[in-house]
Amino acid sequence: MEPPDIERLDERTVQRIAAGEVVERPASVVKELVENSLDAGASRVAVSVESGGTEGIRVRDDGVGIPEDQLEAAVAEHATSKIGDIEDLDRGVGTLGFRGEALYTVGAVSRLTVRSRPPDAEAGAEITVEGGDVGEVRPAGCPAGTTVEVDDLFFNTPAREKFLKRTATEFDHVNTVVTSYALANPDVAVSLEHDGRETFATEGNGDLRSAVLAVYGREVAESMIDVDWTPEAGEAGGTADADDAPVERVTGLVSHPETARSTRDYLSTYVNGRYVTASALREATLDAYGGQLAPDRYPFAVLFVEVPAGDVDVNVHPRKLEVRFDEEPAVRSAVETAVEDALLDHGLIRSTAPRG
Ligand code: ADP
Ligand code: MG
Repeated sequence: MEPPDIERLDERTVQRIAAGEVVERPASVVKELVENSLDAGASRVAVSVESGGTEGIRVRDDGVGIPEDQLEAAVAEHATSKIGDIEDLDRGVGTLGFRGEALYTVGAVSRLTVRSRPPDAEAGAEITVEGGDVGEVRPAGCPAGTTVEVDDLFFNTPAREKFLKRTATEFDHVNTVVTSYALANPDVAVSLEHDGRETFATEGNGDLRSAVLAVYGREVAESMIDVDWTPEAGEAGGTADADDAPVERVTGLVSHPETARSTRDYLSTYVNGRYVTASALREATLDAYGGQLAPDRYPFAVLFVEVPAGDVDVNVHPRKLEVRFDEEPAVRSAVETAVEDALLDHGLIRSTAPRG
């Protein structure tokens, strides 16, 4: 048989393939947009999605806004106002986003509208990108801040569209993302709406327990106990000198062992403020409960672990949230001790042999 000709893909096709790689599902778009709103210093972030985000996604914030003459740059490839943060990439957990590519990438696989007005600008403006075609900047009436709308995600990438799951499943992913940011930023009023119905709305009053109340309800919020641990010289997770301890602090809330569910989804862990799914952190949390959890039951936890920036390695692929610690055993032990101390204080577990 004749060997087939090798052809170079046109730019548009390359762009769409790349976009499908990083934008996996509606929740990945929501993550980027919420992160942009937080980066913009918003004190309110309102997320609303239609049909799990497959039909429409809207994120509105009251942040610094985008000046009219910057709207085109905002949706362009490799364009960012966060150059300083890019250097943080090497230092571990900083703003990753898509490094100037989120809006560009989303615009390649949807109908994207960015509408914005900086608080001191008299009028707002908007720009639309349809499947990579960038439209003109037009005047638009809008409140101070930015609204990003994403319609018909994957309309031009049928292969990616086929991978979308049921609406309920896609919405679960969106909910997990928005919840994780709401809990990490109790000083920001974060709300989520699905098909016109409010899922939750936090107050943004800075209180983690109040954010937990908004997200998980009263029963859970009332059963949460405070975790606040810092290393002392010689303590588990610490070192001889507390100043260069592998873990600087563990804070947050964990639930009473009887307030448990059949899924691990309610174990939220953050490293240096960034939401991560680190199995080491989850396991350490569960270990702290000892035998107090019923079989196959998992507690609620919102735990913030602070480690020296150089000691944590974030997989920089935008889809991955996994981290690797230089000193994993020490991190595990610190988290376990932190949760154990909190549970012991409340008489919820029995003291075991002294820890070494
Ligand atoms: P990155 O966040 O990595 O810079 P993005 O593509 O997500 O890349 O955004 C590009 C630029 O658009 C940002 O650097 C920022 O200047 C601007 N921008 C995006 N979203 C917002 C927002 N909600 N508020 C203010 N500026 C925004
Ligand atoms: Mg971004």
